[in-house]
Order: sequence, then C-alpha cells, then structure tokens
Amino acid sequence: MVPLFNALGISTERIVINPTAPEFFQATKKIHNLLQGAEGTLTEHELEVYHDNIRMVAEAMSQDSVSADIWFLHDPQLLPLAGLLRHNGSANAKAWFWICHIDLTHPNENALESLLPLHYDYDHLIFSLEEYVPRHMLNGTPVSIAPPAIDPLTGKNQPLRESEAWDIVSAMGIDRARPLITQVSRFDLWKDPWGVIDAYRMARHSIPGLQLALLGLSQAADDPEALEVVNSVASHAAGDPDIHLYHDPSGLPASIDGMVNAFQVASSVLMQKSTREGFGLTVTEGMWKGKPMIGGDAGGIRLQIEDGVSGYLVSSPKECADRIVSLMTDDALAGNIGTAAHDSVMRSFLLPRLALDYLKVAKEHAS
Ligand code: UDP
Repeated sequence: MVPLFNALGISTERIVINPTAPEFFQATKKIHNLLQGAEGTLTEHELEVYHDNIRMVAEAMSQDSVSADIWFLHDPQLLPLAGLLRHNGSANAKAWFWICHIDLTHPNENALESLLPLHYDYDHLIFSLEEYVPRHMLNGTPVSIAPPAIDPLTGKNQPLRESEAWDIVSAMGIDRARPLITQVSRFDLWKDPWGVIDAYRMARHSIPGLQLALLGLSQAADDPEALEVVNSVASHAAGDPDIHLYHDPSGLPASIDGMVNAFQVASSVLMQKSTREGFGLTVTEGMWKGKPMIGGDAGGIRLQIEDGVSGYLVSSPKECADRIVSLMTDDALAGNIGTAAHDSVMRSFLLPRLALDYLKVAKEHAS
C-alpha cells in the first residue's frame, strides 16, 4: 500500500510501534482474543500496561514531531493512540481513521465496553465486514467496510513453477512422490491446527500416502501464545512422520515469502480451518494461485470463499476431510474451483481495490 500510494503521488509512510515490555503484548493478545469472543475479563493491571505503553509510544512520536494529514491506525493495539496524539498538539492532522482487522462477530461484550469508547477520538472507522460493526456502541461515528487485499507483485504471490516449488518443499522433508496438503498460518488457537490434523487423518484413509504441512514460520512478535500452541499441536501430531510442523525460521532453503509461496503452489489442496478470522490473507493468497481452498465457515472467510464455487466452507474436521478427498480424486472439480478462486481474487481482493476504498474514506474528510 505504501509504495502504491507514493507512486500515486500521495506521500505515505508506515510506522511500526515497538513497545519493549513483553507484558504489553500479553495484554494486547488477550484483548485480541477477548474481542474475537474468548471468555474472561481484562484486569486493571492489563489495562494499565496497555495504556501506559501506548502513552510512551505517543510521547516518543511527539518528540520525533511525527505528523501527517491523515492517519490510518490499525487494530486494537493502537486504539488509544489517536486520542493521545491529537490532544498533545504535535500531530496536527485533518482526520484519524481506525481500521479494525479482527473478527467481531461474537465479541466479549465486557472487553468491547471497556475499549470501544476509545473510538470517539476517530473520525471514521473501517471494518472488514458489515457483520463486525458494533453499531450499538458507535453513536454515529461514520463507518466504512473495506476488506483487506493482497499485493500480487510481492515475492509471496508471484508465479512460481510447480517443479521449483517442489524443490523447496522437498528440501524441507516433503516426499516429492506423494501428495501434499497445507495450512499456512501462525500457530494460534483460532486457526484450529488440531482440526486440520484430524481432517488429514480422516482423508488419509482415502488418499494413501497423503502428507500434511502446517507452516507457521513468522511468529508475530506480538503473539506470546504461539510456542504453547506449537507444543500442543506437536503432541496432537503424535510423531506421525507425514505431519510436518514448521515453526523455526532459521536455516530455510528460501525466504519466508518464498516458503509460503512454495508450499501453496506445491499443495493439491490448501486449508484455513479457522474458527474466527477477521479476514484470512492466506485464503486469498492461496486462491490467487488457483488452488482449491477449504476455509472454516467463519468471519471474513465467508466473504472470501463462495462455498462450492470458489472453494469450500467447512464447520468440522469431517466436512474438511470429505472436501479434501473429493478435490483430490476429481481433477476437473479441483481445476474449476481453482480457476473460480483466482478470478474472484482478481475481481475483489487485490491491492488497488483496497487503495481506492481508503482513498474514498480519506476524500470524505480531507477537505
Ligand atoms: N505468513 C508468513 N509465514 C508463515 C505463515 C504466514 O509469512 O509462516 C503470512 C501469510 O502468508 C499471510 C500472513 O502471514 O500473509 C497472515 O495473515 P492472515 O490474515 O492469514 O492471518 P493473521 O496472522 O493476520 O491472523
């Protein structure tokens, strides 16, 4: 998005906050989980850690005299920032937008109540789906819907020959002579890696020799739960030599983007069996490559996949296994679904559409 806007003559910069306290990321991961529907409450201490760290970010930005005409602040981690920056006078902006990327279909109402008042400091809110908009708490702040999109020109999404993809995945221990299915995603509670393993086990009865890869190499720095999930998934895999878990980003035969691309291209079927998903970039990336994608019937995936046309939506490991088997035993079906998947990404989920969505919102407030 940044190079695209700059190329359009709109001077654009991306700032990544970097609070050092691990407690901040524990608090924000909990906020993320609660907003996606986890049970529990935020303690006073967690809220204090959250606000204190963002206050330090705001102070550092003010000292650096960071300024812009229009701010796009992403996700709940940053929600308090607009209020802090706009009241200290150093960020003299025309408009502040908050973009919420998470699945708010079944939020924990307590968490929503303690955080959402922070939206009053924003001029416009952007959600990925109409269903996520918590209208009962918004008091008239303008809202737009702008689902994310992918950049077809990044290494991860560039055309890659299947033979080259297989060179990379076989260097990672996948047997070239047997079929592969993959889920690319962080090791995270909501991505249901356990259900993916269950589906693979059922499908393997009909597809002998099937191999499964779970690729979660780039552990997000803001995700302190990942290692716990990796350990639990490894124990669920129970030493099956055809279940490959990849979580260590060292010593790879390609860049992380190259690894993602290779696994997506080499696989016969891709999965994103999430139980909550604001919008699955991996879903769109796989579909762009013309691969049949099986997604969890949740959140943004329902927008991304038209069930039975451009992929399949599933609600259980059994349903997922049935779809794996029918796609892998019917080349024409897999081909048709893959083509429809690619076309739907072309129509709706490439970066220029998202840039236009953002510019429309900006135009409303820029004058
Ligand atoms: N990704 C990656 N390396 C991995 C796993 C995922 O670079 O090992 C990328 C993936 O290609 C996608 C992004 O991380 O672009 C994940 O986005 P998504 O919306 O699917 O899920 P999130 O992690 O934001 O919940």
